[in-house]
Formats: sequence, C-alpha cells, structure tokens
Amino acid sequence: MQRISHWVNNKVVVGTSGRTGKVFNPATGEQQAEVDLASTAEVDAVIAKSKAAFPEWRATGMSRRAEIMFRTRELLDANRKELATYLTLEHGKVPSDALGEIARGIENIEFACGIPALMKGGYSEQASGGVDVYSIRQPLGVVAGITPFNFPAMVPMWMFANAIMCGNTFILKPSEKDPSASMFIADLLRQAGLPDGVFNVLHGDKEAVDRLLVHPDIQSVSFVGSTPIAKYVYETGTKNGKRVQALGGAKNHMLVLPDADLDMAADAAVSAAYGSAGERCMAISVVLAVDTIADALIEKLKTRVPNIKVGPGTDPSAEMGPLISREHRDKVASYINNAAGEGATVVINGTDKAKDAGFFLNPSLIDNVKPGMKCYDEEIFGPVLTVMRVKSYAEGLKTINDNEFGNGTAIFTRDGGVARQFQYDVQVGMVGINVPIPVPVSYYSFGGWKASLFGDQHMYGPEGINFFTRGKVVTSRWPDPRTSAVDLGFPTNR
Ligand code: NAD
Repeated sequence: MQRISHWVNNKVVVGTSGRTGKVFNPATGEQQAEVDLASTAEVDAVIAKSKAAFPEWRATGMSRRAEIMFRTRELLDANRKELATYLTLEHGKVPSDALGEIARGIENIEFACGIPALMKGGYSEQASGGVDVYSIRQPLGVVAGITPFNFPAMVPMWMFANAIMCGNTFILKPSEKDPSASMFIADLLRQAGLPDGVFNVLHGDKEAVDRLLVHPDIQSVSFVGSTPIAKYVYETGTKNGKRVQALGGAKNHMLVLPDADLDMAADAAVSAAYGSAGERCMAISVVLAVDTIADALIEKLKTRVPNIKVGPGTDPSAEMGPLISREHRDKVASYINNAAGEGATVVINGTDKAKDAGFFLNPSLIDNVKPGMKCYDEEIFGPVLTVMRVKSYAEGLKTINDNEFGNGTAIFTRDGGVARQFQYDVQVGMVGINVPIPVPVSYYSFGGWKASLFGDQHMYGPEGINFFTRGKVVTSRWPDPRTSAVDLGFPTNR
C-alpha cells in the first residue's frame, strides 16, 4: 500500500505517530494509499523548522523571492497534466475540471509574482518640519493553512503564494482525503529553488489542527472548509491570539427573472450545479425561478440533466465524476430520498447510481423546494439542483438575504437596472450577473458573507497581502543641530 508522508525542509519525512488515514480512489471505491496523521509532537517539530527558516527567508530580497515564484509558475504550467492526475485519482475530478482548478490556482501564483509592487508602502515628506512619515508592511512569521478536500491544488495556492511571497514561512495541513497534490506542489517549489523550511506539508486530522490553533509560534491561520469547523477554527485561533480567516460552507442561489434568456440560464444552472459533482463551495444549489417562467425553465433543465455523462475521470468522455467518499455519497442520497416526504417534487432522482462500487450518483433535480425542508436548509455538496418558485424579484432577493450563508449568488436577466439593484441589495460576498460561478480573479479577493466566512479579511488578492503582513509606520527626523532644543510639550505637527 502506498504511504503518503509529510514534507519538511524540502524532503519527505515519514510520520512517527503510528496513526494513518485511508485515501480512496472514489471512482473504484477502493483504498489506494494511507496517509500519515501527525501527532502533536510532530506538529511542534515542523513549527520549529518553519520558525528557524523564517529570518533568512524574510531577509531574502523581494526580486529573488519573485524569481522563485516565476519558476514555480513555469513548473506548474509544464506539469499541469501530471498534477491533474492526482486530482482525478484521489478526488475523482474529470480532466476538464481538474485542469480548470489548476489554471485558477496558477493565477494566484502569477499575482504573487508581483510582490515587489504589492508590498509598496506610502511616504509623506515633510509631515512636520524636517519630519517624514512612511509605512511599510512586514511578514508575520510562521503561518498555517488548513484546506478542504474539494480543491486540493487551488485552495493551497490561494494561501501559500501570497504567504511566502510576503516573507512568511508556511505550513500546509491539506485534507487527509486527497493529500498527494500538495506533495507534488511542494516538490515543484523545491525544484524552483525555495529554501528548506519555507513551505512544509503536514498531514493530519483534528489533532494536528488543534495544535496549530494553540501553538504560540503560529501567527496566523487560513482555513477553508465546512462552516462548523470554520467557526471552531476562528474561535479557537483568535482566542489564542492568532489572526484567522476561516471560509465556510455555502448555499448559492441563482435568481432567474422572466426576461432572462432561458436557454442560457438553463445551461448555466446545469454547469454550475453539477460540475465537480456539486462539490464546489460556489456551486449553484438553488435556482429561484420567478413563477411565470418556472415551468419553462424546469422543462429546459429536464432535457439537459440526463445528457450529463457520469463516469470515472480516467474516461475522457466523462463530464461528472464520483463524490469524495461512501459516507458523503450516502448523505447526499438521503437528501434526495427524503425530499418527497418533505413536500418537494423529485423530478430526476440520481440515487440509482449509488449501487456502483465507486462513490457515484447521477445528477438529481428537485422542484418545489421551500425553506424548512432539509434539502433547502442544509448544504448538500453533491450533484443536486433544487428549484424554488418565487412570485417576484423581491421575493427572490428576500429568500437569498434570509439564508444563513452568503458565499456566492447569481442573477440572470437582460435588465441592467435590476441587475445593478441586485448587486446593491444582496447580502452575499460574490455576485454574478449572468455569470453562474463568480469566483473572483486573483487580483480581487475571495470571500463570502455571514456563515460563509469568519474573520475580517477575504482570501488571496489584495486582502491576502494585508492578511499575511503587519503594517508599521515610521516617523523620522534627521536632526539638524541648528534647530535642536529641549521641549517637554506633547509633539505637535505645526
Ligand atoms: P471539512 O470542514 O470537513 O475539512 C476542512 C479541513 O478541516 C480539513 O483539512 C480537515 O482535516 C479539517 N478538519 C475536519 N474536521 C475537523 C475538526 N473536527 N477539527 C479540526 N479540523 C478539522 O471540509 P471538507 O469536507 O474537506 O470540505 C467541504 C466543505 O468546504 C464544504 O462545506 C464547502 O462549502 C467548504 N468549502 C468552502 C470554500 C469557501 O471558499 N468558502 C471553498 C471550498 C470548500
């Protein structure tokens, strides 16, 4: 059985905890590897190595740091296909989805290559007579990233690219369900010339996370995962004096107005709901269809959904792969199987496929969904599109704003005025106008509102630079002996 171990000081380091987790191939349902799960003592050892690497890395010139990031970008580009195979093997992604994830991740590497410009401060000459004031940004020290299973390559890149370019040393605790992508990326960083200890990968579960959250040498924690764990990470990390950004779960609504192009809206809803088997925090899970076009839209969805080709990512014609685990597949199936009893209409039931050895479901479509039903109230995180009928734009907007999550949303309309009003009123962090998955480009920042994000700073982009640095303001005077005198008054600027 293949064993996946930690990555410390640019080498594979075999775990000593005696605990391992199982890594499955979701397309076959078989275990294909075991992954070391770090003990508290192993976490402490990695933190010590990261701390030791910090002074030299921080002192490394920004152009040298950027050079390493440029090389990393080239290596990632040249190795996209190989990296994608890990996403297929351990997560189950089909190639177009895996390559798309990698492409979006690489955009974060490209952004971070601009670090010399991104770290610029301000300068005010002659703030007072002979006094200049300027601001600088400095790295925090050892920072940690804890990532979910659903983007094993992209989400780590959201975090580490900016973190290390700002001069921090970084410890990644990837999902134990698909840990190989982070090891592959770690080796590319080594090949690019990243010094020992600047980027370390520690595999683990709650024990490792809990230690990272309390260890005094961890300065910040970036987390992406489910809402209950995000909240826990935020509360525990901040209580222990750390800066924390913790992104949680989602329930993303797509509001379709009567003037929308219904074919475009149906194509977009199907792509955004079932891509990556619905295991995306920006997946559309609820279509809000205004009554007058609801039947027509459902008809269009009904013709598209059965055409989706479900299969393993190793089959080049497959469009949708399996779910991550047997337990998760069964949980998703339970939402579909309970929906009719709650009063919803199951238009397409994809649970037949659950008989396969791999963790598959076919896409499901549920109509007449309402708040109070489990399939509406909870994040399903699977290939299930639900439709709620609303009377008007106003009812659609209210439904979105009443939801506990606020990650992404989309409106489909031809009316620019209504779209602008929606963007103004909606209580959601990322908004699409005729765009179903509005993941911001890398030079903006990613983050939801409400139960989708705990903390003040969104991830990557300009807010990522702020998150991974501390501001310092220097007030300086070079004394002129001609004007020097004792003055016990409070210093004023005039
Ligand atoms: P998860 O919360 O189960 O796990 C995320 C990370 O937390 C993993 O590294 C895991 O090892 C760790 N973890 C799990 N349980 C823990 C515990 N009890 N204590 C400490 N650490 C623990 O999430 P997941 O199932 O890997 O990912 C899916 C979830 O992530 C979905 O809810 C999805 O919406 C969310 N997600 C959100 C975003 C976003 O940007 N908002 C992006 C991707 C995924």
